Amino acid sequence: MEQEVTLMEMLEAREARARRQRELLDCLSCPVVSFTMNIPGPVKNGPVIRRAFREGLLRLDAALDAPGLGVVSREEIDLPTGCEALWAVSGPGRTIKELCAAIEDRDPLGRLFDLDVLDPERGGWSREDLGLSPRRCLVCGREGKGCASRRLHSVEELQEKTREILTGFFARQDREALAGQAARALMYEVCTTPKPGLVDRHNNGSHRDMDLFTFLDSTTALLPYWHQAVSIGQETAGLLPEETFARLREAGLAAERAMFRATGGVNTHKGAVFSLGCVLGAAGRLWTLEGPCRDAARLLAECALMSASAAEEAFSALTPETARTFGARLYLETGLRGIRGEVAGGFPSVLETGLPTLRALLREGVSLERAGISVLLALMARTSDTNLIARGGPEGQRWAAAQAAELLAQSPLPALEAVEALDREMIRRNLSPGGCADLLAVTYFLHAVTDG
Ligand SMILES: [Zn+2]
Repeated sequence: MEQEVTLMEMLEAREARARRQRELLDCLSCPVVSFTMNIPGPVKNGPVIRRAFREGLLRLDAALDAPGLGVVSREEIDLPTGCEALWAVSGPGRTIKELCAAIEDRDPLGRLFDLDVLDPERGGWSREDLGLSPRRCLVCGREGKGCASRRLHSVEELQEKTREILTGFFARQDREALAGQAARALMYEVCTTPKPGLVDRHNNGSHRDMDLFTFLDSTTALLPYWHQAVSIGQETAGLLPEETFARLREAGLAAERAMFRATGGVNTHKGAVFSLGCVLGAAGRLWTLEGPCRDAARLLAECALMSASAAEEAFSALTPETARTFGARLYLETGLRGIRGEVAGGFPSVLETGLPTLRALLREGVSLERAGISVLLALMARTSDTNLIARGGPEGQRWAAAQAAELLAQSPLPALEAVEALDREMIRRNLSPGGCADLLAVTYFLHAVTDG
């Protein structure tokens, strides 16, 4: 837990560190980098500080991976008084100090890092020794220790600034990671082969206007949108979930236009823009400095909070005159709500079928692709895919669901020949479970970013 420490404890920690530095210098006779975090206030350690410290270690490791330098020994300790690293590095102390000062000055988190370099011959290297200007004040940017010695800024001000630096860095880092996982999930989905009726690595399924490359074009064109979706969630986290959804819907429309431009007017990912976009928005809302939410149920429940009232409103306003899309007419005729209903309900198909099926098979050592085929079949068997209904009517959908269920009844891992036979038959019948494909992509995404 986050523990407050006293000035006395801090001084004792500094003394202990100095002793250990001396031992290393005497014993290894090469420069030592002493890395600590510069954290205002009485709490000097915790999950977020540790996270930033690990980033610093990565930076240090990268900087010291240079000709003529070599890390001889590494010690990292994790105390209530803070994280500390003592690395002995072979090479000229001056060069090492230059590299460390560059991290302090240029890295987005650098202001929070203290990277001292001690030399066995001459003691510590200072920034002045290198002709560098003193470090700047965290709050106002003035050079030197003037602000600190005169206590010009309150601890609260310093803490606020520290939080701002950490938030700026980790919000962006996590956003990039989540957006990357979204693109990866879409590529995994389209590459999973064989998939009955869908575009995969072997054929174009029941589609004449798109192939694997159309999907790759679309996935690439949508990259900015995945970032934006997380960003919208992060920015609107303090507002009502419906606000996030409204902003996402606007961004989603622009993303659809980007998709159509990239594919020459073919709808590859409209469903994914909606469903995966919603999940990413939820991930943004639930994001904290410690990292993205790793609880799939919580993320999907957030999707329900975000979209349920909009879905309710849209469905209840529908009349035979206003129902322009296939989905709208289908709702009026059958009450089926398609992907909007799925998202508004918190993705029950993903939570109860997709993820458990995928994870159970992976635990048995099945490959991700092979497990993905079974996930798709399980989704086909248990959901009313409106894409199947659009092409084959309710009978076509029921037929495809029964075929998928039968394959899974024979084995949780049906023979690939049997799946290929179903693919041929679905192509003959012009059937394509596009809704289930989107849910498979959401399943892949959640598997990558959540625990369980
Ligand atoms: Zn200042």
